[in-house]
Amino acid sequence: MVIKNVSLDIVCGVTSTLPENDRPEIAFAGKSNVGKSSLINALMNRKALARTSSQPGKTQTINFYNVNESMYLVDLPGYGYAKVSQAEKEKWGHLIERYLHGSKMLKAVFLLIDIRHEPSKNDKTMYEWIRYNGYQPIIIATKLDKLKRSQIQKHIKMLRQGLELVPGTQIIPFSSATKQGRDEIWELMDSILEE
Ligand code: GDP
Repeated sequence: MVIKNVSLDIVCGVTSTLPENDRPEIAFAGKSNVGKSSLINALMNRKALARTSSQPGKTQTINFYNVNESMYLVDLPGYGYAKVSQAEKEKWGHLIERYLHGSKMLKAVFLLIDIRHEPSKNDKTMYEWIRYNGYQPIIIATKLDKLKRSQIQKHIKMLRQGLELVPGTQIIPFSSATKQGRDEIWELMDSILEE
């Protein structure tokens, strides 16, 4: 897709009513700091559309980015942030679940996992939630540039085993530093939107 215009159209907090869109949605999930804002900025060809974790006061909301008036890229709140209370974490969990369960226009969910580390308990729970709601998550293995080339296959295998991925699940390695994987993600998104 050629990005002509992007705008942050809708922001939903824990008490918000979720929108009833008539355009297809593609959602991105992942733990806090996994590189989700950096990925969204790379996909949108913008430097700072989505706020990155290094900026203080990042609120936990579902953000709907309107792309070319033809689709919504949906940024789900990052989970597993250590500095918030359990009660707060549960509220975000409910918000994410409400969205996955309720959205009628959601076409696909991408789950971001740091390629360097074993998936966490939260990552596994998120993977299960997405599947439970009837979606086959596509995995984006982030921060690819942090690994030596010789380590990549071993780490992909670690993610596959750690998350107990359904055979055939796609894993796309990505780096926001080099933009490797960006075109592949867009090709996949384009094919999902054409379905
Ligand atoms: P978010 O919390 O998931 O939105 O994560 P951010 O996009 O804010 O990224 C968290 C931190 O990881 C920031 O310091 C980013 O600069 C860094 N980061 C994100 N993606 C990459 C990547 O592909 N490679 C490297 N080396 N660093 C990254």
